[in-house]
Amino acid sequence: MSTPNNGGTPRYNPLESMQRRFDEAKEKLGLDDQFANVLRVPDKVVAANIPVTMDDGTIRVFEAYRVVHSVHLGPSKGGIRYSMDVHLDEVKALAAWMTWKCAVVNVPYGGAKGGIKCDPRSMSKGELERLTRGYTLAMRNVFGPDKDIPAPDMGTSAQEMAWIVDEFSKITGHNSYAVVTGKPLVLGGSLGRVEATGRGVMVSTRSAMAKLGLNPTNTTCVVQGFGNVGSISAKLIAQLGVKIVAISDVSGGYYNPEGIDVAEAIAYVANSSTRSLEGYTGGSPVTNGELLELPCDILVPAAMEDQITPENAARIKAKMIVEGANGPTTAEADSILNDKGILVVPDILANAGGVTVSYFEWVQNRLGYYWTEERVNRRADRAMKQAFDNVYATAEKYNVNMRIAAYIVALDKVASTLKLRGSF
Ligand code: GLU
Repeated sequence: MSTPNNGGTPRYNPLESMQRRFDEAKEKLGLDDQFANVLRVPDKVVAANIPVTMDDGTIRVFEAYRVVHSVHLGPSKGGIRYSMDVHLDEVKALAAWMTWKCAVVNVPYGGAKGGIKCDPRSMSKGELERLTRGYTLAMRNVFGPDKDIPAPDMGTSAQEMAWIVDEFSKITGHNSYAVVTGKPLVLGGSLGRVEATGRGVMVSTRSAMAKLGLNPTNTTCVVQGFGNVGSISAKLIAQLGVKIVAISDVSGGYYNPEGIDVAEAIAYVANSSTRSLEGYTGGSPVTNGELLELPCDILVPAAMEDQITPENAARIKAKMIVEGANGPTTAEADSILNDKGILVVPDILANAGGVTVSYFEWVQNRLGYYWTEERVNRRADRAMKQAFDNVYATAEKYNVNMRIAAYIVALDKVASTLKLRGSF
């Protein structure tokens, strides 16, 4: 989240955060300004106002965006976010991060992101359906299996993707599964897609632990966020033998130095009327801010942007941070974490497991042949491990942290396709 201040303007701007790292990587790489200038900003920004008839008969208008950052490596790819915090600079940053993420993990896509300013928790299923169909209609010339392929993100799930497939198929007059990923299994989804981002976070965590010589059985971990990414990361990291000592969501944080029973917490959320950890008694309450500063070896921010800032970075006790969320650390906080010797596995690497399996889903849709979960997981794990090793080696080569190394890997790759393709 871009923390709103009193005026409602974000205190940190994710686009500036992205561009600061981009500029640093560009300098290290010695990339010519004329190429860098193309990649520093999005290719295309589409804004729409979507009227929706609400259940009470009134009509509300929703602010919506789709930003295509690049199409150099292939069709653009990226999720759609439903949140009251959506604003254009955030969507631009998220779109650019998708470009870098796909390049880091070797997936042949460019980057995009969509966002609708709305509060999905307060909307009925019918209202969400009409909003999603309206958005698909508004973006009908942007989306396409060879053009731009959306997926779920914060506030959206397989259900919204099913509505997009349906609406887009009606518009084009033929069934079009490959226009979107993260679909329900019966509607062209892929086995392993729901768990994919959390699974990639686990693989990144395991690789980073090996680098630091951490033994899972005496390692502790704090996870911020208990949505799809946070809960599955916590579950899979616990399965490595690591003790999860704190979890959190919108209702706050829960700390238990003896260890949180993650499976029980997941079941608690699934059965709760608020679909949150509210009232959870498996740990003592802490705030989301306090949670980040708890004693632990591994911190997994898997909630939203701008959580680790110059205000709290110096107090973070973890030895490593594995970014499940997009943009959880501001650019200013990077150097503080660096000086403290904290190993940061950056978002564009750590959470790339989701888009990797999205790519596998798209491939399966186009082949009309579906893989076993074992095959999906094996290929995704291999891609994540290779990406980690490549970024780690790049960090050593350029003597930079893993974040700048990931940008260097991505920028080098995308800039070379830009030079080869040669049209601007
Ligand atoms: N929203 C996810 C992300 O930020 C997945 C995007 C996708 O699969 O296209 O990586």
